[in-house]
Amino acid sequence: MDTAGVPQRRNYIDGRFLGSNRQFEKTSPVDGSAVATVHEADRAMVDHAVQAARRALKGPWGRMALAERAEMLRAIATGIERRFAEFVAAEVADTGKPAALASHLDIPRGAANFRIFADIVRTYGMDSYFLDTPDGKGAVNYAMRKPLGVVGVISPWNLPLLLLTWKLAPALACGNTIVAKPSEETPSTATLLAEVMHEAGVPPGVYNLVHGFGPDSAGEFVTAHPGVDAITFTGESATGSAIMRSVAPSVKPISFELGGKNAGIVFADCDFEAALAGMAHAIFSNCGQVCLAPERVYVERPIFERFAAALKQKAQAHVMGWPDDPKTTMGPLISRQHREKVLSYYALARTEGASVMCGGGVPAFGDARDRGCYIEPTLWTGLAETARSVKEEIFGPCAHLAPFEDEEQAIAMANDTRYGLAATVWTSNLSRGHRVAQAMECGIAWVNCWFLRDLRTPFGGAKLSGIGREGGLHSLNFYSEPTNVCIKL
Ligand code: NAD
Repeated sequence: MDTAGVPQRRNYIDGRFLGSNRQFEKTSPVDGSAVATVHEADRAMVDHAVQAARRALKGPWGRMALAERAEMLRAIATGIERRFAEFVAAEVADTGKPAALASHLDIPRGAANFRIFADIVRTYGMDSYFLDTPDGKGAVNYAMRKPLGVVGVISPWNLPLLLLTWKLAPALACGNTIVAKPSEETPSTATLLAEVMHEAGVPPGVYNLVHGFGPDSAGEFVTAHPGVDAITFTGESATGSAIMRSVAPSVKPISFELGGKNAGIVFADCDFEAALAGMAHAIFSNCGQVCLAPERVYVERPIFERFAAALKQKAQAHVMGWPDDPKTTMGPLISRQHREKVLSYYALARTEGASVMCGGGVPAFGDARDRGCYIEPTLWTGLAETARSVKEEIFGPCAHLAPFEDEEQAIAMANDTRYGLAATVWTSNLSRGHRVAQAMECGIAWVNCWFLRDLRTPFGGAKLSGIGREGGLHSLNFYSEPTNVCIKL
């Protein structure tokens, strides 16, 4: 289907943009209009992409000096920045998120990911270390990092360019070649990135992009392909499980960044206004579609009522508007299907006995936005800690608030989950901040902040929230294969 005026999002394989006979329409979460026609890659196209990536490992890319590769990553970052407005518009069209958010977070981080990994690989190199022999046997050891080979990158829709490049940049920095499969909901910035790679002179076959869905489509064709050497995936925990099954026969290395059901802990001694602003931002940013968002909020009893009332005001102050309107603070959910899922949790929470403090439904605008996927920001109290709506990831602009009596109870409640991605702790007692953060059974614990990232630090989740860590040297470790060379002197 070719709709006049609607961009075509084609696959990018071996340095060429390729259309497909199978196409699907990507619609706007803002008003349901068509935003792109996406060309779905079939099994043969995915195989073509994998073969191109395998060949590219042996071509100019494979022989390129590390410094030159790092320069190429910088050129990609510059290329994104040069077309900044186009990237913002594409991200906004696919997701409906406020343009201000895409301009401040998604696209700048997309470019920054390439710069930081260019710096990291230049600083640490691919020859990792030399060792003296402690036993006097007269040998010297060194270890060199080699690329893993062809890396399959499967990414989600919530922060499309940011999360794709978070994996792509270190994988390329280590000299791998790529077959990337972005979410079917957000095909656009990954396609623009292919144009930027092309313009930056990235050799054919190094970055291959295939569009499509997960099961029985491009996603599964990539993960199950025997010519793909490693899989890096960000998405739902259940999808991670399915991918594990699909990679099992060929025993590929995997790096998984999965779902969360994160806790926010607010102590009575916190800076009230800072904690309120921080928690409101953490819960509702990107319409709650952030893996790190706290959907469980624990507040120390003496300030519970006051904090809950103030958070409710923050929730109700959100302006659900058009993405380009600077007054808009909250966009829609990504799709009708996802809104059905979130609404099913809104209904479940009520059935489970929640008191609905605010929200719980769908706003009515009386204009084209009624054909979109907007949903009200929602807060609950009164649920049992065992309720499914307190246990399961919802991935919407919502949270349950519960009081706690002391530090020990707060830690126990926060850790009583099968997930282990992130936590945010608010207190003006620094010793307590350290203590509680260290007790969190998760990959990242923030104190008096949230989503404050130094890209050198380990990022990932414990329990159901993931396998492995990425960031800085952790990424170099995953995306390279060390070979130890031992020389008898
Ligand atoms: P999803 O798992 O539905 O899809 C993610 C990607 O996997 C998409 O590209 C999809 O097409 C593909 N996919 C789906 N099934 C597949 C299969 N069987 N084989 C191969 N590929 C398959 O996730 P989503 O809905 O796009 O994203 C939201 C989820 O991502 C939430 O659970 C969120 O917590 C998680 N997430 C985690 C992090 C993190 O860093 N831990 C970051 C962002 C989002």
